[in-house]
Amino acid sequence: MNTAPDPVQARLLIVDDDLLLRGIAARTLQHAGFDVSVADSGEAALPCFAQHAHDLVLLDVMMPGLDGYEVCQRIRAMPRGARVPILMLTGLNDTGSIDLAYRHGATDFITKPINWTLLAHRVRYALRASSAAEAMRRSRESLARAQRLAGMGNWVVLADGRMEASAELLRLCSGDTWPGSEPVPLATLAAFQAHVAAADLEPVQQARDQLRRHGTAYQLEYRIVCADGSQRSVFEQATPLRDEQGQALGIEGITQDITASVQARERIRQLAHYDNVTGLPNRQFFADLAAPTLERARRHVSTCALLHVDIDRFKGINDAFGRLRGDAVLQTVAQRLRAWIRGSDLAASSGAPAEAGVLARVGGNAFTLLIGDLAGQAQASAVALRLLDAIAQPIEVEAQSLVLTASVGVALFPADAQDLAGLTRCAEQAAYAAKSAGRAQHQFFCAITNAQAAGRLMLEVDLRRGIAQGELRLHFQPQVDANDGRIVGAEALVRWQHPVRGLVPPADFIPLAEDSGLIVPLTDWVLEAACAQLRAWRDAGLPALTLSVNLAATTLADPALTARLDGLMQRHRLAPADLKLEVTETMLMHDVDSAVERLQALRARGHRLSLDDFGTGYSSLSYLKRFPIDELKIDRAFVTDASRGGRDGALAAAIIVLGREFGLGVVAEGVETPQQQAFLLHHGCHVHQGYLYARPLPAAAFEQMLRADNAQR
Ligand code: C2E
Ligand code: CA
Ligand code: CA
Repeated sequence: MNTAPDPVQARLLIVDDDLLLRGIAARTLQHAGFDVSVADSGEAALPCFAQHAHDLVLLDVMMPGLDGYEVCQRIRAMPRGARVPILMLTGLNDTGSIDLAYRHGATDFITKPINWTLLAHRVRYALRASSAAEAMRRSRESLARAQRLAGMGNWVVLADGRMEASAELLRLCSGDTWPGSEPVPLATLAAFQAHVAAADLEPVQQARDQLRRHGTAYQLEYRIVCADGSQRSVFEQATPLRDEQGQALGIEGITQDITASVQARERIRQLAHYDNVTGLPNRQFFADLAAPTLERARRHVSTCALLHVDIDRFKGINDAFGRLRGDAVLQTVAQRLRAWIRGSDLAASSGAPAEAGVLARVGGNAFTLLIGDLAGQAQASAVALRLLDAIAQPIEVEAQSLVLTASVGVALFPADAQDLAGLTRCAEQAAYAAKSAGRAQHQFFCAITNAQAAGRLMLEVDLRRGIAQGELRLHFQPQVDANDGRIVGAEALVRWQHPVRGLVPPADFIPLAEDSGLIVPLTDWVLEAACAQLRAWRDAGLPALTLSVNLAATTLADPALTARLDGLMQRHRLAPADLKLEVTETMLMHDVDSAVERLQALRARGHRLSLDDFGTGYSSLSYLKRFPIDELKIDRAFVTDASRGGRDGALAAAIIVLGREFGLGVVAEGVETPQQQAFLLHHGCHVHQGYLYARPLPAAAFEQMLRADNAQR
């Protein structure tokens, strides 16, 4: 900060055309210790000031050429002249010329004749006043800078309501349009109050009233609406304003922009309470939100339902389309559930829509929903059905239409459990039961499903043991040429010969094996057993036939697969064409390029490839063209409906045409009736697999069938 110039060193400029006066003034002031320059005209004064930047100017008003007013004005316009004290020397004692002097920027004036004894004092006083003003100006500037940095404005409101606000407060209330536009006027408390957001007005008004009436200081957070319409959060502290005698003058305060920290706080709250994919509350926050609903039900002795909604086969969607699209699907489901809660008659029945239901995302593909004020189990069931309906509306993903299903578990309060933790457990178990019972449905919690669920948990351990102890079996289902009844191939289907549970079908353990990684040893076993069996039949002199084996997604993706197959072919002395590998569309869609590469490698070795469950997955024609496959298997669902003339029948016919166009073999799966058989033959598909011909058979039974078939030739 600039200190006041020492009067000894202060440099003065005296401008006067009067030689005598100029001389006396210069000598007097030099004598008083000033460093003095002189100029005899306005024209001479200007370059002199520009060069030396004097600390004070004594300037005669009446001069030929440039007069004192003009010189004063020009000095003020110079970079160093804006704040230099200029004392005008004037013989004119009228107010008009004094006025004129001030208007041209004079600091003060000294009248002629000059009182020489007082002159040095007047000069010294003017210098001191100017340096004090300068110091004040600088301190005000640095305060404004500090306020700017802190986003903090200060203000004073006098007893009559008039207000003085700092520049920063004006900026704050103006919003981002300032300094482009005029700052908002804040001349009165009322004008300031008009910026308070409506929702916060009451507490702000109250605090300020209390302060003005009773002198109660306050601290407050509230929102303001800026002139440009934007909203900001502020923190305000205010206290009474008193004079030295303690007399109340009004109130004063500081108001600080804390928008950024409020936003950060809100973001943290979001992260802690909400799921960031769907924006729904997370499990922890759900507990807080659900508490009032349960409490109310407890008081009113009414029924609540907790629904655990598990989206079926969601992993498949993630695998097929990638995480990002999977997330988008979840978002769509979340939106639907939310909209459904809001739009349902639940909202109407329980009054406040906010209380109609509480929704949360509680897992990768799981949502939970608490609904209060239910009439009973029947209504809960209706709710679950409509929920399943909402989920089942097709979702567009990559120009394909997905239809999702869900397994919903329902637990009732107070029948099943009395607190949220208990209800959650029951609903989850019920959802598990719904999944086990074939998915796409809802189940209520009951003690039996509870026991089943516990049993399922044991299954994985059990299966691991079963594989190790050789409890797996292969059954074989013939594929028959319907034109002549000959067996042209067979599909190997795995079974689990459980010591206690008996023969377990693959649907009961393959999904578990896929989830747990047990699919790897399982597939190893299946491939080994299939090849060994094929070799045994060859050795027994039975006619050659192709054996189809089902591959799991992880098996196909395994880079070691080709080497393993090569080993098997060698060891069992088989040709690659003896083994047909069945894959599903879903398995291929995850990473089409590398799937195509894998399939090509298998095909290059001579293995045959069959696209299983065709029509149920996500395939589009463009993909089908890229997959190097030999055969399509029409899914059972289409075959079942084939002879009834339904939509699925038309689909079956279309698939047959498609296969022919692409030069692929077509096998129909699940042929159970002569009508289906006739329909398929009529449309040109003659390789059939299904109960009409034979169920999957143990090796010995299948071998017998094979021999009989052979004998007929
Ligand atoms: P999938 O590959 O579609 O196998 C055909 C299923 O349809 C078999 O059920 C078969 O028994 C059944 N089926 C055949 N004809 C008829 C019929 O006329 N009517 C009816 N209603 N069903 C018929 P399965 O053996 O229970 O196998 C179920 C699924 O388990 C298979 O479906 C396949 O996805 C999987 N799977 C079976 N064995 C293996 C295996 O060794 N490895 C792998 N990864 N999956 C397997
Ligand atoms: Ca199959
Ligand atoms: Ca199939």
